[in-house]
Amino acid sequence: MTLTETTTQWLGMLSLYGWIWMIPLVERLFPMNEQKMLRPGIINDLIHTYHRVHLHSFLNAALIAWLATYAQQHGGDKLPLQGVLLNAHWLWNCIALLLMGHVTFYVAHYCAHKIPLLWQFHRVHHSSLALDSFSTSRFHILDKVLFAGPYLMLVTYLQPDPALTFLFVSFNDFWGRFGHGNIRSPHWLGYFMSTPKFHRWHHSNHPEAIDKNFSAEFNFLDYLFGTAYYPAGKLPDNFGDSQYSNNILVQHYRPFVDIYGIYRKNGWMAMFRKPRPQVADKLEAVHE
Ligand SMILES: [Zn+2]
Ligand SMILES: [Zn+2]
Repeated sequence: MTLTETTTQWLGMLSLYGWIWMIPLVERLFPMNEQKMLRPGIINDLIHTYHRVHLHSFLNAALIAWLATYAQQHGGDKLPLQGVLLNAHWLWNCIALLLMGHVTFYVAHYCAHKIPLLWQFHRVHHSSLALDSFSTSRFHILDKVLFAGPYLMLVTYLQPDPALTFLFVSFNDFWGRFGHGNIRSPHWLGYFMSTPKFHRWHHSNHPEAIDKNFSAEFNFLDYLFGTAYYPAGKLPDNFGDSQYSNNILVQHYRPFVDIYGIYRKNGWMAMFRKPRPQVADKLEAVHE
């Protein structure tokens, strides 16, 4: 499959300026909750949106280039499945792209929540007190690399159709913004896709929804592994971390400070293992 240069340019423009400003209009027309567009942290989120375009793209492009060169030099054609999608039917390409995107995102996201070292970086994305499409881009740069890296490696290794890959990445970009939007969506859709309502629970502080709904677009892995939380007739109303900074610079250095704090307090193993709060709480209660 080939995309014309005009289509590629249009999709690129939509990614840079289209969805970012069109989805907020949809949020005004079909809001899930009444909330203000000008909210605390909005400037920070806009800086995230546009710095990401330069910085993350460069990092991802550099990573892809390095991987491609490394694969060419060291892999040859002998490794199993290498370049398997190169001449495969478009349908296999679509299925592979969907699975690669969903599986790598789900696993990386799961690890980002369960491993304290990674959580310190992912915490930045969860710090926004209000959830709307502008909060989509609030990410620590290393967190973004964690999410994109495995996908890029698979793309480099299996070599799917570049045009379909581009379309898929454009769709991801759109859906990421839509999924964070304050937009009404039909309840049934949340059984197949990570809709705004589905992803809101992921960002909420409600205990029953902690570490749930890891998916970004399609969400069958959440249902398969029992990490889906999607009650009918209920909406979350408490998000983010009021103790976290709304300054992009602080958001980029604070994870390192916090990681050092964890190391000093509980040793380096504590960076990889989550404490068990229930057991610790119960012990404290007994001691009291
Ligand atoms: Zn998360
Ligand atoms: Zn999110």
